[in-house]
Amino acid sequence: MTENTLTIALSKGRIFEETLPLLAAAGIVPSEAPEKSRKLIIGTNHENIRLVIVRATDVPTYVQYGAADFGIAGKDVLIEHGGSGLYQPLDLHIAECRMMVAVRKGFDYAAASQPGSRLRIATKYPNIAAEHFAGKGVHVDIIKLYGSMELAPLVGLSDAIVDLVSTGNTLKANGLEAVEHVVDISSRLVVNKAALKTKHALLEPIIQAFGSAAKAGERSFE
Ligand code: AMP
Repeated sequence: MTENTLTIALSKGRIFEETLPLLAAAGIVPSEAPEKSRKLIIGTNHENIRLVIVRATDVPTYVQYGAADFGIAGKDVLIEHGGSGLYQPLDLHIAECRMMVAVRKGFDYAAASQPGSRLRIATKYPNIAAEHFAGKGVHVDIIKLYGSMELAPLVGLSDAIVDLVSTGNTLKANGLEAVEHVVDISSRLVVNKAALKTKHALLEPIIQAFGSAAKAGERSFE
């Protein structure tokens, strides 16, 4: 891409929906909705700005390698990715939720998670889970899953899960309960470090606009 074009990596769903007002604050309007179109490259009202629609977990990779100049990714995804090659200037306060340990209702987690004990943990977030339990002095066997984590304790695949919780409805519907807070999660702006220098004039007003809109959004929840 040339120096006067911008590519923005976003994922479909909640992050995309909650990013629209931030894009609007920067004067950027996508020409179509990714939910409706199957296109992976979406134009905007600016000829030189486009969006690429990727899996949430792939956003840091596209930005790290400069295939996208910036993107929006959850802190969960960024911790797992490691964040190399990425400048993370802003917490956008969107897609906010909590990373929690959850178990089957009635499971004695306090007794099972004493220092020195051993637990089987199913999760999509092996690094975050390993670090959390290492901090508690609990030995864990981590079982990596790609979805439907809530099933694992119900069928004996694991003792507990580490997953994102927003309303808590998914846990409740599956007879699970959250027993421990791991980390608060929200989505961050991530910028390619080289693009920050070579495209500074294009990027700076967008970062500013996102920052002001995120602050205003945060205030409106107070
Ligand atoms: P809830 O039932 O509202 O607690 O939502 C829990 C389900 O939504 C779990 O399957 C989570 O993995 C997923 N989830 C909740 N919040 C987020 C988020 N901010 N980003 C991605 N997935 C989420």
